This record gives sequence, structure tokens and C-alpha cells, in this order.
Amino acid sequence: MSAPARPSEGDAQVVAQRPEGGPASAPNPCTACGACCAAFRVDFHPAELAGGTFAWAGGVPRELTVPVAARLVRMRGTDAAPPRCAALSGEVGGAVACAIYDARPSPCREFDVHHDACARARKRHGLPPVGAA
Ligand code: SF4
Ligand code: SF4
Repeated sequence: MSAPARPSEGDAQVVAQRPEGGPASAPNPCTACGACCAAFRVDFHPAELAGGTFAWAGGVPRELTVPVAARLVRMRGTDAAPPRCAALSGEVGGAVACAIYDARPSPCREFDVHHDACARARKRHGLPPVGAA
């Protein structure tokens, strides 16, 4: 998810606070969801790739991406029909995880349950908004 802006269908977005365990008293809803990793394109600057100037941890493995333009790469699978990021493991709506969590790209780091797009992604997968009764 250039660091293309966030949540606007058709634009690169991401899943972000995703698969990260929360306090026992407040389970992270993302670890039992993953809908945003299977709903939006995730584009970012190639400097976040492994070996890049702005890579987190080891950087995003190139084999999990596809080139889009000189200054833009995309997580593989996120523009497929249906979309699903190649780094997502597990079943959407069940136990999920990001295989490159520490190195995930910026769009994923910026996206969280507070984005309107979170509810949209969950709805696409038949899930209620986070916090809904
Ligand atoms: S759609 Fe929302 S709840 Fe689901 S993984 Fe993404 S940010 Fe978390
Ligand atoms: S890199 Fe990880 S957090 Fe980002 S879309 Fe893919 S599975 Fe989700």
C-alpha cells in the first residue's frame, strides 16, 4: 500500500496493525481477521524492499512483490481477483498472520482498525465491524 494513500478503494492500501498479539485483556481483532490483506492493493516505494534505504527489519522480499512503475511496487496478489496478499497466511476471518510482519511495508503499518476501510474490508468477507455486538 508509494506510499499511496490510505483507504480509498482503487488505491493502494493496507493492512496494518495486523497480526500482532495484543494484551490478554484486549485481544487484537486483526489476528482473527486479515480481511484488509485480502481486499486492497498494497503499493509502496521500492526503497522499502529488502536492501532498500527505507526498509524495515530485513525489508520486503522482492519475490513477494511485483513491479508497478519505476517508483512503485505492489505486494503480490493484492490486485488479483479476488485479492489476497502473498504474505498472508491462514484463513480470512480465522487465525491469520503476516509472514513478513516486522518487514511489512508502510501502507500496512499505517492501516488499522480505526480506518473506515477496515469495516469495508471486513464486510467484503462477511465479517461485522470491529467492536460490533
Ligand atoms: S480489516 Fe481491520 S480488523 Fe481486519 S486485519 Fe485489517 S485492520 Fe485488522
Ligand atoms: S504485507 Fe502483511 S500486513 Fe501487508 S497486506 Fe500483506 S499480509 Fe497484510
